[in-house]
Amino acid sequence: MDDCIFCKIAHGDIPTDFVYSDEHVAAFRDLNPQAPVHVLVIPKEHYASGVAVEDASVWANLMSSAVKIARELGLEKDGYRMVINTGEQGGQTVPHLHLHLLAGRNLGWPPG
Ligand code: 5GP
Ligand code: ZN
Repeated sequence: MDDCIFCKIAHGDIPTDFVYSDEHVAAFRDLNPQAPVHVLVIPKEHYASGVAVEDASVWANLMSSAVKIARELGLEKDGYRMVINTGEQGGQTVPHLHLHLLAGRNLGWPPG
């Protein structure tokens, strides 16, 4: 996807400090963090949202990477939250599947 900002980040077209990167997944800090730790974890392949994912290995790679990143960032003791906003009512603003990894403060529930 030529005009997708997260594709550009994933493919190195925009200089980015990656928190994590492997063959399938990239992770980087959110531009507008909502918590002291706010990392976005994305598949390098473009999916407009999770609705477009048909291959379960995409979920496996995304989730296992997110768990690994949380461990590497030392978040396991105090805890963290993973969120995938999907579609308009789900609050999704960037149409490339991404998982929010949030931590570092008490996170309210229910979400807004
Ligand atoms: P959504 O609202 O779609 O669940 O989340 C999109 C997230 O991407 C938002 O938290 C927003 O701050 C972040 N974001 C949007 N554009 C960029 C960007 O160019 N770079 C980074 N690092 N984050 C971005
Ligand atoms: Zn994309």
